[in-house]
Amino acid sequence: MTPVVLGLGSNRALSNDRAALSPCDVLALACKALSDVLSGLTVSSVYLTKPMYVTDQNDFYNMAVFGFYDGTPESLLEKTQAIEAAYGRDRSKEIRNGPRSLDIDIELFGNEQIDTEKLLVPHPRIYERAFVLVPLLEILPDSADIPSREPFEKALKSIGMQGVQKYGRIFP
Ligand code: ADP
Ligand code: MG
Repeated sequence: MTPVVLGLGSNRALSNDRAALSPCDVLALACKALSDVLSGLTVSSVYLTKPMYVTDQNDFYNMAVFGFYDGTPESLLEKTQAIEAAYGRDRSKEIRNGPRSLDIDIELFGNEQIDTEKLLVPHPRIYERAFVLVPLLEILPDSADIPSREPFEKALKSIGMQGVQKYGRIFP
């Protein structure tokens, strides 16, 4: 079992003929789905974040999830992408860094350094994103099996809060 941290984000409601789900509804349902993928799930609070790269869009709701995964990083990516797709994510209709109903990134996969066509882990933009660092630091355990908190604490000190605000808990 590998300890992993996932980063979740949503800034778009999901409405189709079956459902009308707010971004927080989508995040809560994603956490529920992730409880079948990871064991010992720990879920952070949700944080409200101004969009970073494409600024003309709704605020993002972001959170982090910690748990233990039994499998390869690639198989975890397949599962998280299936959950994204189940909650309305259709990459073919998106602009890069634009609105999305659900984004799940693998921030940390144990102490592994992965650099393949499909996966860069640790996620390369962790250190520039308070909306990743703040929820990650809320739940990252002290353990030899996953990177230590110190570099993340240092990075957050240096970039500041970037306007990230606690919204509240939505799961369980
Ligand atoms: P982003 O999260 O950067 O806004 P997407 O969610 O659309 O972009 O993902 C684009 C691609 O990023 C995915 O198809 C996936 O193969 C790749 N990727 C690379 N590293 C990671 C990672 N650590 N977690 C999730 N996806 C990743
Ligand atoms: Mg992503």
